[in-house]
Amino acid sequence: MKIHIDIDCFFVSAARIVEPGLEHKAVAIGGRSDTKIFNKDAKNQTVNFENTGSFVPTFYKAYEKKDDDIASFTDANGKIRGILTTSSYEARSFGIKTAMTIREALQLCPHLIIKAPNMSLYQKLSHELHEFLCTKIPLVEQASIDEFYGDLSGWVEDKDIPAFIDTLRHEILHVLKLPVSIGAAPTRYIAKLATTYAKPFGSKVIDKYNFDSFVNPIVVGDFAGIGKSMKQKLYGAQIHTLGDIRKRRGTLESWGPYSTDLYKRINGEVDAAIKTSHKRKSIGISRTMDPLYDRRELKRRVHILTRHLAYAILKLDVIPTVFHLGIRYEMNQKSHKNISLAELFTEKKFDSLCIKLFNQADTQKRLKVINLSINCSSFTRDSKKELSLIGFNEEQKMKKLTEQTQILREKYGIDTLKWGSEM
Ligand SMILES: [Mg+2]
Repeated sequence: MKIHIDIDCFFVSAARIVEPGLEHKAVAIGGRSDTKIFNKDAKNQTVNFENTGSFVPTFYKAYEKKDDDIASFTDANGKIRGILTTSSYEARSFGIKTAMTIREALQLCPHLIIKAPNMSLYQKLSHELHEFLCTKIPLVEQASIDEFYGDLSGWVEDKDIPAFIDTLRHEILHVLKLPVSIGAAPTRYIAKLATTYAKPFGSKVIDKYNFDSFVNPIVVGDFAGIGKSMKQKLYGAQIHTLGDIRKRRGTLESWGPYSTDLYKRINGEVDAAIKTSHKRKSIGISRTMDPLYDRRELKRRVHILTRHLAYAILKLDVIPTVFHLGIRYEMNQKSHKNISLAELFTEKKFDSLCIKLFNQADTQKRLKVINLSINCSSFTRDSKKELSLIGFNEEQKMKKLTEQTQILREKYGIDTLKWGSEM
């Protein structure tokens, strides 16, 4: 059997470890896109590679106690900004939900306590839980910062699984002070579904005896992998529950390979192995900002994002060959540009490339921009043969400069050396 372990309202639970007074209270963690990196005197930026995988943000501002103050979520006009990333079950009983704006949440629950995110604490706890699980289960996969899969086959007999996972969750609470919920099932997809219904602080085992009675009544939107558009499509076909899906194999198959696979995942027919290590496949940076029209300032921000990203790419020691820049505008408009380039990585070249991508992607010049993102992928490692040799010697010189810059930044911080274009 596979198991799925998910920390209950992780960020809140983490805050409660530091501040036990938050126990049993309506608490939420509020987030604002960290636009402080665009400030000319930006500092305290942190880069993290501790848990590799896309689920851990690479760049974030180090936590400071004063960020907990509601004032830190208030802008210059006295308006409360930001959204909630996590809320306690006590807060949820007031209708508080993830992704709700802080303003809305305070209207529903005026005594809601809002705390700032503390990424390094989450990473530390996540890492500790991973280590702990590895001592208990032979195969552990980290699926996100607060989610893990494990394979118990040949380790725990099926009949002992209910007691095993129940003990495990109490041990985790005892040792790490983290409340988790655990689901067990023949496949990882059903195990994850079981966890959803075990929450908070519960465990649930799905086997061949209760499979139908558990799966069939569940509404389609509760299955991971069914998003908004798929949900609409299913509703359109009079499919509302997972039981309905299981009766409509033909319909799902006629919609193509994704739907066919979805059918099999729900029916417990397919599974994926537990992967114990994740190899990073891409790295990116993104910032949401107050609507901004000034193209010169936007380009300055592209330079800043580029500098942070270049630092991370060099630190990872990879050579990306696919570059993506995305722009989100007000009024729900979007635009992006990609380029493939198999050449040595230098910061200067990367910087000009990103500006070029920005110029090409910026097709809605009359609109204000609300988000910029840059993503780099398709890494080649130490593979000179795969890289273009045109201008290779020239580039070697630029590479030296990039390396020197990196050494200084690693020693004194990413903000130590900036290019003139950022000023
Ligand atoms: Mg969770």
